[in-house]
Amino acid sequence: MQTKITKLLGIKYPIIQGGMQWVGTPELASAVSNAGGLGIVTALISPTPEQALKEIKRALDMTDSPIGVNLTILPTLKPVPYREYANAIAESGVKIVETAGKNPQEVMPVFKEAQIKVIHKCTSIQHAKKAQELGCSAVSIDGFECAGHPGEDDIPGLILLPRAKDELNLPIIASGGFGDGRGLAAALCLGAEAINMGTRFLATKEAPVHQNIKQALVNADEKQTKLIFRTLHNTARIYKNKIAEQVVEMEKRNASIDELAPLVSGLRGKKVFETGDLDYGVWTAGMVAGIIRDIPSVAELVTRIVEEAKDIIKERLIGIIND
Ligand code: NAD
Repeated sequence: MQTKITKLLGIKYPIIQGGMQWVGTPELASAVSNAGGLGIVTALISPTPEQALKEIKRALDMTDSPIGVNLTILPTLKPVPYREYANAIAESGVKIVETAGKNPQEVMPVFKEAQIKVIHKCTSIQHAKKAQELGCSAVSIDGFECAGHPGEDDIPGLILLPRAKDELNLPIIASGGFGDGRGLAAALCLGAEAINMGTRFLATKEAPVHQNIKQALVNADEKQTKLIFRTLHNTARIYKNKIAEQVVEMEKRNASIDELAPLVSGLRGKKVFETGDLDYGVWTAGMVAGIIRDIPSVAELVTRIVEEAKDIIKERLIGIIND
């Protein structure tokens, strides 16, 4: 399966593991890269840029294949020195970065200087065009189905992907709602050159989270997510648990981020992943949970998705043409 993205990034399969706070560790990212996809280490899991540098170097030592780093620029409870994180990423020697959230203008000079290919993940055509203008090498188009931050326009991938294809000259990665070979085949049909998955990789043997989280995704259907932070214009799709319901109720009374902070802090979400207590904090999950039915190894998952997509393309798509 050779596409513009596999060629651009030097990977075997058009499957990328997107940035995931607390989950995109060197262990998971290197497993994805070793399986022929692109693994991505999430820089902000490390509390300082110095620690991020060590973690990225550790990840680079765990695979001979390309690997990337995610840097997400969003409002945070404590200020984050994004520029210093960007410097650490550049110093590590990594050659692929996924930015997300705000456009990467402030960190772009650092990445360009280090000859890093930047994939910007965004949720609107306007933001994708800005990424192209800033010199990104590719864009990841995140549909409304996605986990984490789907933006404020609520446009699903089925519309965003062909729109992006028509508007941009860059290779496009389809993100949000992808979890199997049917999704990969569909993404290719819509004009994408690869898929990006988060939640699906959360339910794998190598994901560094408690077994309860993985099982919760297997048990969940597509309605098991909730949107929070709508009132703050920083919408986030998370697993629907007691805290999610509580946050939405507080938002109906126009609660401020200061009032919500004790419930929503990332450090509390980290505890959920460590202890397996599903209701302790907010944790990110996408609608794709509805089609997650098992907990395979990363290599089993990647191989299965590629084989399923190939079968669909060869048997079903080519098979329905009878002239
Ligand atoms: P945190 O503990 O600082 O904040 C928790 C949540 O509250 C985050 O979703 C954050 O965006 C939101 N928030 C904080 N201050 C806010 C404000 N003033 N207005 C509106 N919303 C506010 O963050 P964390 O959980 O430690 O994560 C660190 C950063 O990494 C966040 O920006 C997070 O969204 C981001 N991240 C996201 C993804 C993804 O795939 N969605 C992946 C990696 C990192």
